[in-house]
Amino acid sequence: MVAKFFQKLNDYGSAIQFLVMSKCNDEAFQLAQTHNQMEVYADIIGPDATPEDYQSIAVYFENEKNNFLAGKFFLLSGQYTKAMKHFLKCNSEDSQAIDLAIETVGRANDEQLTRQLIDYLMGETDGMPKDARYLFRLYMALKQFREAARTAIIIAREEQNAGNYRNAHDVLFSMFQELKQNKIKIPAEMQSNLMILHSYILVKMHVKRGDHMKGARMLIRVANNISKFPSHIVPILTSTVIECHRAGLKNSSFSYAAMLMRPEYRDQIDFKYKKKIEMIVRRPDKSEEEEPLTSCPVCSFQLPETDLLCPECQNNLPYCIATGRHVLKEDLTACPSCDFPAILTEFSSLLESEENCPMCSEKVNKDVLQKIVDTQPYLAPSEGTE
Ligand SMILES: [Zn+2]
Ligand SMILES: [Zn+2]
Repeated sequence: MVAKFFQKLNDYGSAIQFLVMSKCNDEAFQLAQTHNQMEVYADIIGPDATPEDYQSIAVYFENEKNNFLAGKFFLLSGQYTKAMKHFLKCNSEDSQAIDLAIETVGRANDEQLTRQLIDYLMGETDGMPKDARYLFRLYMALKQFREAARTAIIIAREEQNAGNYRNAHDVLFSMFQELKQNKIKIPAEMQSNLMILHSYILVKMHVKRGDHMKGARMLIRVANNISKFPSHIVPILTSTVIECHRAGLKNSSFSYAAMLMRPEYRDQIDFKYKKKIEMIVRRPDKSEEEEPLTSCPVCSFQLPETDLLCPECQNNLPYCIATGRHVLKEDLTACPSCDFPAILTEFSSLLESEENCPMCSEKVNKDVLQKIVDTQPYLAPSEGTE
């Protein structure tokens, strides 16, 4: 009766709602069909629907040539092949359709459907390869973690080669988090690429803050991995020379200046810096303070603070997200958002002028940083299955 009342007011949404409440699903469906309210009906019926209800809705949208919604309801009714057929007919820019196609494959666990979607994502069906991030998500949904990690590395490498370092960093970071959440061992190549990209991000941050020593140390690390920054070799080496010189690391400044004098780089040096760099090479000043030594967090051996491989215990040491130095056991914290480790005093002082975590970009209040007492989980090499 209430439903009829709303129907008279042309309020079909409420009418459908009352029909569903009184378990008259067939009438509700008919009403939705007659008055073009199928999406409203689908919303209302929600968790109470049976596979048959979902199938009726799917068939309705199939007749309406609405591929996305047809696919969505075939998926809900458990008819995966039909769902996939509709998702693959959607506009290839429709990311929601691809997401649901991935979910379909994840649930169906059917080799043929998986193959079909991989072909589609690789562009074999329409000649248009889709964003590789979908492939990553697909492998994650299928729990093929090794493939997922390999895809992540390829995606990040493409961004990196194009000079989009922040993107490459963020791709690796988010995939790193996903693998970690699923307790999957992070491949060493992924770890080290993220570390190098993060060092590059730290350069910009510290130079901007006027902390030239920290900037210079990170630039040296980046410059030692210059092949990973193919589109910015000369600008990065130039910054390394300039920042090292400013920070008093004259010998390092000289070595990278000499590298820039090679014929393949020399002509590309920015005019603004050319004279200065030539002068640094002509009048070498090899004075350079030794880098301060701090304790290895694993074995307490004293090593230069930005070294990440302990010569004594042979461990790859976790790095501080605020400075890029190896972490210190007695002064350890972690970002409350991403849980990456940091040197407590350094991260706190960074957060006096910065609002966000340099790793996850989330806002962090320095007052919530806590000293970590049980350091073991942060020092042990990441555990998990291969
Ligand atoms: Zn050690
Ligand atoms: Zn963070």
